[in-house]
Amino acid sequence: MPELPEVETTVRGLRPVLEGARLALVEPRRADLRRAFPVDLRQRLTGATVTGLSRRAKYGLIDTDRGDTMIFHLGMSGRWRVDPGELLAHDHLVLETGVGRRLALHDPRRFGSVDLWPTADLATFPAFRALGPEPLGLGLTGAMLLAAFQGRRAPIKAMLLDQRIVAGLGNIYVCEALNLARIAPSRAAGRISLFRLDRLVDAVRSVLLAAIEAGGSTLRDYARPDGELGYFSKQWRVYGREGEACPACASPVRRRAEGGRSTFWCPACQRG
Ligand code: ZN
Repeated sequence: MPELPEVETTVRGLRPVLEGARLALVEPRRADLRRAFPVDLRQRLTGATVTGLSRRAKYGLIDTDRGDTMIFHLGMSGRWRVDPGELLAHDHLVLETGVGRRLALHDPRRFGSVDLWPTADLATFPAFRALGPEPLGLGLTGAMLLAAFQGRRAPIKAMLLDQRIVAGLGNIYVCEALNLARIAPSRAAGRISLFRLDRLVDAVRSVLLAAIEAGGSTLRDYARPDGELGYFSKQWRVYGREGEACPACASPVRRRAEGGRSTFWCPACQRG
């Protein structure tokens, strides 16, 4: 499932194709993904020029000179195919630029979404209204987490997954960051010192940036016709590595399943 680094990598991969380009063709090939495409998507975007691309949480943002931003989410299985030779069954939205570049949003499970929203008013987009700060932005600090966690007995892992506290963190990167910061996933959030929360913020940034960098290097392999943006392999510290050696202390990594989601951690160095 695409997490923040995959979305960031996707946006960076789309930028050279779309930035400054005119959308000569906008073609939804079905009515919906997780929810309906905007009924006037084709009408509002055809002929528009893309003025910029960015990311908010796990959403990609494509701004246009019409004052509309196209907001896409990759759901469970979404990816953009760049200059595909031929369209496939699960290519649900096709864009073509004025110079003949072609992009296809490919999403077999259709948990993704595409919306249009006024660029000047993005903060009111429903999914953005209650979002916490970006983990790679200046808004996330140990002091901010200390204040947010005050008196909270919920486990630190659950609090980091709460999008109202930090935007865009998913299960994989929370497991990775807690291991790097040597904090137990079950630790009550309100009982972690400022010193350790500062270390946690550094760890969050470090695991995300390493993944984005890995995606960037994989992306070069995708810079060819039929390339796909959205996935890359990554060597995790603890995620998916039950029984293997913790990279910090070499003790075996443990896994605990809870509500369809697994926690991977090292009980030896993630004690407190
Ligand atoms: Zn360890």
